[in-house]
Amino acid sequence: MIKTELLIDNNDVATSEYLEVNDPGNFEERVGLLAQATKSQVDQAVTSAHEAFKSWSRTDLQTRSELLLQAAGILEAEAPHVIELMARESGMLLTINKAEIGMAANIVRDNVELAAEFLKPKQIEDAASWVSIEKRPIGVIAGIVSWNAPVILTMRKLAPALVCGNTIVIKPSPFAAMGISLLLKKMAAIFPPGVINVVHGGAEVGDALTRHPLIRKISFTGGAKVAEAIMKSAANSIKDVQFELGGNDPAIILDDADIEDLMPKLVGGVFRRSGQFCFAVKRIYVPELIYDRFFTRLIEEVAKFKVGHPLATGVTFGPMNNRHQYQFIKDMIDRTRKSGAEVIELGEKLDPSTWDGGYYLLPAVVKHASPDLEVVLTEQFGPVIPVVSYRTETDVIRMANQTELGLGSSVWSSDFDRALAVARQLEAGMTFINQAGTSRLGQKNIPFGGVKQSGIGRESSEIGLGEYVEYHGINYHKI
Ligand code: NAD
Repeated sequence: MIKTELLIDNNDVATSEYLEVNDPGNFEERVGLLAQATKSQVDQAVTSAHEAFKSWSRTDLQTRSELLLQAAGILEAEAPHVIELMARESGMLLTINKAEIGMAANIVRDNVELAAEFLKPKQIEDAASWVSIEKRPIGVIAGIVSWNAPVILTMRKLAPALVCGNTIVIKPSPFAAMGISLLLKKMAAIFPPGVINVVHGGAEVGDALTRHPLIRKISFTGGAKVAEAIMKSAANSIKDVQFELGGNDPAIILDDADIEDLMPKLVGGVFRRSGQFCFAVKRIYVPELIYDRFFTRLIEEVAKFKVGHPLATGVTFGPMNNRHQYQFIKDMIDRTRKSGAEVIELGEKLDPSTWDGGYYLLPAVVKHASPDLEVVLTEQFGPVIPVVSYRTETDVIRMANQTELGLGSSVWSSDFDRALAVARQLEAGMTFINQAGTSRLGQKNIPFGGVKQSGIGRESSEIGLGEYVEYHGINYHKI
């Protein structure tokens, strides 16, 4: 049985309370025990990071960069030892976990590469004076993440924070804490004690962390309700916040889109991680004229999923991560059906005898969903996708923009200029054309994040690095 402790000052720290972690795909399987931090342990972790900041912030960029590059290598080397644990605690497929750790290592390397240019001071001069605009680390960062892609989400905070000279206290989600903690412990060992600390727990621990006066900035990935609570606790010492919140990403299919070509990409964009990712396609808009052809092809593609335990042979679709998530989607499907809409469940139950022993749901599509249905206007964060028909581009742009969320979005067309014109009218932080996500070039260069209630600030790229520095202006008066 695995026991995951807190990590403070590079030491494993035990506590008096442990949370039992169970497998969401097999309730009888106990995965391990997760330490729950006390308030005073949160204080110890923050204090350790505060002490470490004194020398880490003055460590030269080259040393910080070299350590981070070494840490990226550790992530990759540890991947084979951790992907099964991640599958058992979170329900995510082995292939997904492996790809996630690879992407996370790239995130670390990208930040190191971008920081070399980004951290250079900008100096300007005229006859009367000399000005230097310098970038300084902020202090101790609190990184709080959700369960759906724990390694990527953590590295998006840790890498820019550390390369800019900050130290960090990470609080993973209790629904996916063990795998990421193992990786963080291996990484932390090569850094001075206190540069990376990890605390575990739920809302109380998160609250103690975000209230702590020595935390200078909170970088949070999760839902809007918790973001609201964090803003309140951040207010006590005027802390800066950066939020990556939910999305309700529209996919707009234009009438000239190549349905055959787009379908596997689109379906992957909807149902990867069983629909549990922030920039998943969460509603599809299809021109009335091609709706039937599109829908028939969509159903064929979704029917291919094989739903089961993430470690079972042949599985392509895992369970929901937790009870709340499972019940939320089930209830939303029930309400959608009650409203008169047609919900079609597809895919194959790999081993129906285990179905009631895990949070299993079949992927589902809502046919002829009306544009104002709850499942269209709210983030479902699970495997049910509404397909709405539209008549004109003006109509579809209005519908796409009518929610309070604006994370990602996608436009699908054979005509780049036409797709681009639509993309530019969407209220979103990101728009993907003919895909449901970023390319490798995009991962490095696009500031990841959303508008409206999808977040505050951005991650990745130079803009993401900018979240982890303070600006210091120095002005020398020559005369
Ligand atoms: P959540 O908001 O319930 O929890 C997120 C984290 O906050 C967890 O670690 C949790 O323990 C912690 N927390 C809970 N209460 C807290 C408090 N009072 N103070 C401080 N921390 C507290 O979200 P979730 O269920 O883990 O994640 C689902 C949501 O996250 C979805 O809306 C999804 O779209 C969003 N998400 C966004 C992105 C993005 O990059 N934009 C990425 C992944 C997930």
